Amino acid sequence: MKQYIEEAEKVLMHTYSRYPVVLDHGKGMYLYDIEGKEYLDFTAGIAVFALGYNNERYNEALKLQLDTLIHTSNYFYSMPALEAAKRLAEASGMDRVFFTNSGTEAVEGAIKLARKYFYSKTGKACGEIIAMERSFHGRTMGALSVTGTKKYREPFEPLIGGVRFAQFNDLDSVKKNINENTCAIIMEPIQGEGGIYPATEQFINSVRKLCDENGILLIFDEIQCGMGRTGDMFAYQGYGVKPDIITCAKGLGCGVPVGAFAAAEEVAAAFQPGDHGTTYGGNPFAAKAVSMVFDLFESMNVLDNVKAVGGYLFEKLEEIRNKFDIITDHRGMGLIQGLEFSIPVKGIIADALKEGLILISAGERVIRFVPPLIAEKKHVDSMIEILIKCLGNAA
Ligand SMILES: *Cc1c(COP(=O)(O)O)cnc(C)c1O
Repeated sequence: MKQYIEEAEKVLMHTYSRYPVVLDHGKGMYLYDIEGKEYLDFTAGIAVFALGYNNERYNEALKLQLDTLIHTSNYFYSMPALEAAKRLAEASGMDRVFFTNSGTEAVEGAIKLARKYFYSKTGKACGEIIAMERSFHGRTMGALSVTGTKKYREPFEPLIGGVRFAQFNDLDSVKKNINENTCAIIMEPIQGEGGIYPATEQFINSVRKLCDENGILLIFDEIQCGMGRTGDMFAYQGYGVKPDIITCAKGLGCGVPVGAFAAAEEVAAAFQPGDHGTTYGGNPFAAKAVSMVFDLFESMNVLDNVKAVGGYLFEKLEEIRNKFDIITDHRGMGLIQGLEFSIPVKGIIADALKEGLILISAGERVIRFVPPLIAEKKHVDSMIEILIKCLGNAA
């Protein structure tokens, strides 16, 4: 592996501090490196592989699509795109869908739609957006502009204008940032990269009300917390609050790169031919992956599993939290949970990797647990056993 890693370090840009492992293949909850070592995966390619690795029905459907039609332009209709859009609209309660290739592009589209809606309604080209501190929405310029971590933004300024940041879970701070040009509020119902911070029920409901009273669109970025991760198909459904626009990606294609933004009819109607586009987005191959994901979520009862195993994971992490002083908080729900530490978690994660467990951080001091949604209690038990060992070493 050492030789491959040295070669890779010569040709890849240094945008990641990668772990010294070359992964080769996967099966269910497990990944294998090129030397045959097995890893229990509690990261799922960052909340992507909801169905686990090498799901047979998913793979077979995609192989068939490969041999049928991979790509056409969006100037034509295709059956997979129709099917995928219907499934996503139905699952999200939104009316119209636009497919993208990634999460960040879904956020770009959502921002453009919100601004176009404001422009159509008011005739003013100055729509402002309120975003949250500690949020993460992606790495392209628009999504970066609404990402609430200064260190990600600053080196790339000037970004898009008209963005104000409010404190997450603090309604007054949102109110203070509203003016007559505010066109949208964007937030993650559960902040993922920022450290697994769920919105409080009161906050998310009050923001909805605030938007209604002021004619502001509410955008929920469900790229990480959506697609079943909380035990509901989308996190907002668990809160009983409906946004005007959603963004979705990560689990949406379960490994095939695909994202989407979707909106209520009245909002979506602001987009006219020529306002937005993509060459690849929602091509037949990517769209087939999306509709297979929805099919398999149903036939495998994925949401029920997330509720049951998520509850079990919560109990087990609570037990651990009470055992180790270095753990300062435990947040999240379903299969999106985080443990916060008083020390940086980098060492613990590296240690776990040696023991055959893949974990990921969310910020410097939070270990995030976002396994495939097919995880069973026995996988939680194996993970906890390794974690306890590594925490013992760290404490
Ligand atoms: C990962 C993520 C994104 C960006 O998605 P990419 O596919 O990496 O562009 C945006 N928003 C949230 C909440 C995310 O977790």
